[in-house]
Amino acid sequence: MKYTRSGGHTAVGPSDWFTGTVYIDGVRNPDEQTAIGCGHVRFTPGARTAWHRHPKGQTLYVTDGIGLVATRRGGVQEIRPGDVIFIEPGEEHWHGATPERFMAHVALQQADDQGQVVTWLEHVADDEYNAAAHRPESRS
Ligand code: MN
Repeated sequence: MKYTRSGGHTAVGPSDWFTGTVYIDGVRNPDEQTAIGCGHVRFTPGARTAWHRHPKGQTLYVTDGIGLVATRRGGVQEIRPGDVIFIEPGEEHWHGATPERFMAHVALQQADDQGQVVTWLEHVADDEYNAAAHRPESRS
């Protein structure tokens, strides 16, 4: 067993990958024992990832607040604590907070044979984000 006591520094999400202020606490990076990467990501209101895709997909578990997840093909979904979202391998998408609320999720992603968990694309423009925020799909 390996035990890591809570500590270290919360990272600020790089501006190449995020719009707005995002805080990341790493849980684990892929290593020689397992390809699973995991982090707890906290988005301030209006903050979101850039468009991106994961080679082996990604699971999100929402822990706080109200957020949005959007795909190129699949529209926009409002997400809330307890929701679980699986993003298919290669599916281009973004996730983040709503304009008025924080949102936090645990993110799990598996590294591919090259050790990569994500490919980053362009930022989500303000008009694109605002349109998504005003027309999320109704929750079932
Ligand atoms: Mn993602």
